[in-house]
Amino acid sequence: MVLNLRCADYGFECGFALNAKATADTIQKLRHHFEEEHGIDYTTEAVIQMVTNRGHTLDSIRR
Ligand SMILES: [Zn+2]
Repeated sequence: MVLNLRCADYGFECGFALNAKATADTIQKLRHHFEEEHGIDYTTEAVIQMVTNRGHTLDSIRR
């Protein structure tokens, strides 16, 4: 499953987007982006929650 994650979907005025498989690594990339670009240090769980709240299924990265 491929995720299409756009930073703008999470409330930022930002053109950053990720198209990648739904893996823990992809979640980490999004988390790092929030931290590096926006100075917000979300936890991994928080980012997973944000993505799943957008209607994405992340069963593959949950254990
Ligand atoms: Zn951004």
